[in-house]
Amino acid sequence: MNNEFVDMYLKMFPGMRPTLFQMDMIEAEITDKTLWQETLRYWCGNDYRAQSVFKMIEYYKDLKQKDRGDTRTVGRYQPQEYIPPPPCEFCGSDVCLSSHDDERRQRIQEENRKAGHKWAQ
Ligand SMILES: [Zn+2]
Repeated sequence: MNNEFVDMYLKMFPGMRPTLFQMDMIEAEITDKTLWQETLRYWCGNDYRAQSVFKMIEYYKDLKQKDRGDTRTVGRYQPQEYIPPPPCEFCGSDVCLSSHDDERRQRIQEENRKAGHKWAQ
């Protein structure tokens, strides 16, 4: 039974017969049709040896690596809009260095009281 990637190879190198081992390698390693086609075209265009399936697969893996890397950088350089932090909700200062622990505690207690929790009375 022929694998589609092996078929692509056979179409690109008419008359060539990869060994069973090589066909297995193609079946096991190749998953991307476009990149495999690109690899085969590169091989043919350079008149490389069609028997060098191992090297071909290495080239394919290289392409795949690059392909993945490129996708990752897409959209990485979006200008970041600077959004200043809001002023402190307790003292109104733009750059507040206080943690306002007491105020925070009081506010939580107040909220709990309003919510009607007996333990907060
Ligand atoms: Zn503050």
